[in-house]
Amino acid sequence: MIRFLNVRLTWLVAFITLQTAVTFLSPLSPLSNQVVCAQDAEPAEEKPTAGGKEEAGPGQADAEQEARRELQRELARLRNREMRPRREINIFSPLDLPTPNDARSAIGLPGPGYWQQQADYRMEVTLDDQADTLVGRETITYTNNSPTPLPYLWLNLEQNLFRSDSDGSKFTPRASRFNNIGEFEGGYTIEFVRIGGQELNLEVFDTVGRVMLPNSIEPRGGQVQLEVGWKFNIPSYGADRMGIQFVEQGKIYEMAQWFPSVCKFDDVNGWNNLPYLGQGEFYTDFGTYDVKITAPRGHVVCATGVLQNPTEVLTPAQQERLNQAKQSAKTVMIRTQEEVGTPAGSPEGEGPLTWHFKAEKVRTFAWTASQATIWDAAGITWDDGSTVLCQSVYPKESLQTWPESTQMLRHSVLLYSDQWFRYPYPTVTNVSGVCGGMEYPMVLFCSDDFSKAGLFAVTSHELGHSWFPMIVNTDERRYPWMDEGFNTFINFYDRFDVYNADINGQPLASRDENGPPSGRGRGNSTLVNQPIALPADQLRPDRLGRLAYFKPGNGMRLLREVILGPERFDPAFKLYIREWAFKSPQPADFFRCMENATGMNLAWFWRGWFLEDNLCDQAITSVTTGRDAESVRVQIANKQEMVMPVFLRVEFEDKTTKDVELPVYVWYYTNLWSADVPTEGKSVAKVTLDPRRNIPDADRSNNTWNAPKADKTDQPEKAEGESGGDKPGANDGGGDDDDRR
Ligand SMILES: [Zn+2]
Repeated sequence: MIRFLNVRLTWLVAFITLQTAVTFLSPLSPLSNQVVCAQDAEPAEEKPTAGGKEEAGPGQADAEQEARRELQRELARLRNREMRPRREINIFSPLDLPTPNDARSAIGLPGPGYWQQQADYRMEVTLDDQADTLVGRETITYTNNSPTPLPYLWLNLEQNLFRSDSDGSKFTPRASRFNNIGEFEGGYTIEFVRIGGQELNLEVFDTVGRVMLPNSIEPRGGQVQLEVGWKFNIPSYGADRMGIQFVEQGKIYEMAQWFPSVCKFDDVNGWNNLPYLGQGEFYTDFGTYDVKITAPRGHVVCATGVLQNPTEVLTPAQQERLNQAKQSAKTVMIRTQEEVGTPAGSPEGEGPLTWHFKAEKVRTFAWTASQATIWDAAGITWDDGSTVLCQSVYPKESLQTWPESTQMLRHSVLLYSDQWFRYPYPTVTNVSGVCGGMEYPMVLFCSDDFSKAGLFAVTSHELGHSWFPMIVNTDERRYPWMDEGFNTFINFYDRFDVYNADINGQPLASRDENGPPSGRGRGNSTLVNQPIALPADQLRPDRLGRLAYFKPGNGMRLLREVILGPERFDPAFKLYIREWAFKSPQPADFFRCMENATGMNLAWFWRGWFLEDNLCDQAITSVTTGRDAESVRVQIANKQEMVMPVFLRVEFEDKTTKDVELPVYVWYYTNLWSADVPTEGKSVAKVTLDPRRNIPDADRSNNTWNAPKADKTDQPEKAEGESGGDKPGANDGGGDDDDRR
């Protein structure tokens, strides 16, 4: 666990004397007209330049003086944020991570003592499409691999969110995205809970339930078989994660978070039994699923896993087409629009059909059933001969865009597999229905309410969740950024691949699109700032998209493309995925894995971007003569808590440019850094910070310095009173100590 340290940098009492402040600021005197401070640009422009007429009236002179004094104060404040010697926690301090142990190693990978529980499910369920109810029986075989005897089990009872009196109904109001809409009484009726024929009491506490066991489950391999019988009314709109879409030729059921499941028990939190309130998704153990779904004849059922009995539930033509599709890169129709609602659409006979699916190594099970289904599919064959069946099911209402869905799936499965980790499952199905976009193992729910580009984006996103969190199984309720954020990150490259957007070129505007990257200044809640690293239900709903998706996604791009470079980042992130595939990393594991494998201490980045709501603002404060006539000295201020590397571009009068990069270490002990840039005697026309918009600078108005036009000189002159310029390697941190005493 990470404690969210409040590291507002301590602003020490000012040591600086008026004398040193004046000395320090003297380059800004109106007489040294080569030196213009960006922050001071307005008053500076009004100043008479050397040799200019002294026209300023008394009021204007006062204003100029006051502006200069304010600038002095600001620079003094920046300088006094330096903390040396430092004992306080600052942006560079090590994070307060849990001590590495046998289960979670110091390099952020699973250790020899890593364990996780196994929860295997056998279920038989029946859908009533008249009453909109589901009745189920399940046998959960739960294996306790932990070193701890378990005297009780906790169950997820997520359908209880849709009781009118649930905590979520009060906290996440009706008619909002993550609850139900309209009058509806949902929730489980639990018919029995048994172990070995013995009836047990399930104590229900809102969306979780506790079963006290007759005997503790033995550690390190002990097992229990829990039988549960239940039923519930299917909500038409279940928190944007499940429900019913009503279309002309029938209903489309999307079933997810639908059966009582065992909460995840792990080595970090013990029981992960946070309530299901709506906004937070889910966190469960891997297991095998053997599920028989009985639905009225005429429905097509698709689900997590592989269909076991095609001969019983498909027509001979559909079976043949499906076999063909597995081997086909092109989309093959399995059930055409013309066949929907006709005898050709389903096998001959009377009464309901039971569809049998099996899945391995999945963290839950989802499915869909509908009479209105148009069904198409195509295949991917890997080098070893194994295949992925990519399928799409949709009603005729979705015909405008959905016939392209299967090829979208193929494209994204191939791209993510190539770039990060091979898709490990044998099927994936995209379902058009009531959910806007939701992901489950091998099953995606996407609305048909999209343009082609929109359908691609949502399909790419929901499919990307196969990697985060379906393969790398993170805690979605506590750390939404580890699935939504990482997924958003990989989605960028999928989108770029399709739409030919520029990745490594400029302008990379997506890193700071939607306003300042800290999350400030967007929406109505400008007064409330939150860090990324909050549990899903603690994020303000109007911040969810920004803080769980785009800010962490952009942060990962920043890390990959700017701070580390792909060659340093990619092997580390691939290692993280590979080593944590089918396991459950914590944030500390991710941080450690990336730092160890890239060889860079990134505490400043994790803290600045993920753990705290910090802003980044770099500014040019002055441009003066450098240590000799062949260089120019650019003074840069770090005005906020967040630190970033510095990207500087000097443009000369002859239109040539020189780019300079400074490592983030320049902010180790100072917030004012001076960089001497060789000019080869050329005149400087303009200096720009972060010209390619690499970093999330919250205020770009102070990023540019232009040579004064009124009195062009060939070379910036050494400013009066500027000390330290003659010291080798001089800068505001290392060159002139005396003004910090
Ligand atoms: Zn998502």
